Amino acid sequence: MGEKQGSSSTLGVLPPTDPFTVRDLLRAALQIGLGGPVGGAAAAADLAARVAQAKRGAPAQSGSQNVPSTQRGTQASPAPQPSQSNGSGNGPHWWSRWTTPPPPTWTPPPPKPPALVEYNGHTVSDPRVREALEQISKYFASATVNVRSGDRNFRPRGSPANSPHLTHQAADIHVMGRDDSQVKDLLKDPSIASALSGLRILQHGPYTATEGPHIHIDSRRDAGQPARFMHEGMTRTGRNVYDDDDE
Ligand SMILES: [Zn+2]
Repeated sequence: MGEKQGSSSTLGVLPPTDPFTVRDLLRAALQIGLGGPVGGAAAAADLAARVAQAKRGAPAQSGSQNVPSTQRGTQASPAPQPSQSNGSGNGPHWWSRWTTPPPPTWTPPPPKPPALVEYNGHTVSDPRVREALEQISKYFASATVNVRSGDRNFRPRGSPANSPHLTHQAADIHVMGRDDSQVKDLLKDPSIASALSGLRILQHGPYTATEGPHIHIDSRRDAGQPARFMHEGMTRTGRNVYDDDDE
């Protein structure tokens, strides 16, 4: 029948032992020592250290060593804390320091990059434009987006009569640490395209007819359409000429 299966029964013949007694530790040291002089000596030294630690650890769990130093020697201590009653007298076994898991630690996740939009007192009513300004700040690693103009009820020099500022659909910005040409080129990155859909992004260059170079963003484009990139005043002949970048 099953006579050939007898060899597996030898796995269960080890006698039950208390693995924490010094005698068994020394016995284990003798067994490990058969492996070789170097390994055996190292294991024996390790076991000797563990035995010494066991002898030191046993009294450490009972008595006054668990009392914080601030309370040691003072008779006017308040009612015993639950941890103190546990530590005095019948304390945990010395090996509990090896088996007790450490207190749980929690590392907060890295914060999401904040959007830093400085409106400088200007009002930008269009929620799509406001959202775009926040996304631009995040895209540039939380660089400050400085708003230079927003909603307008007047026409400054060089501003067209149909300016989207007059319909509260636009903002003029700079991104701190970047020049305008760099900003516009980087905003053509596909990774931010969805955040800029439905917008026009217009660079007023050094020869602009407006009051000064800046990036203009407005929502005069159907929602869901890819952003339209334009420029004005990039050259002397381009003053007050509004062109698409692709042309
Ligand atoms: Zn503008």
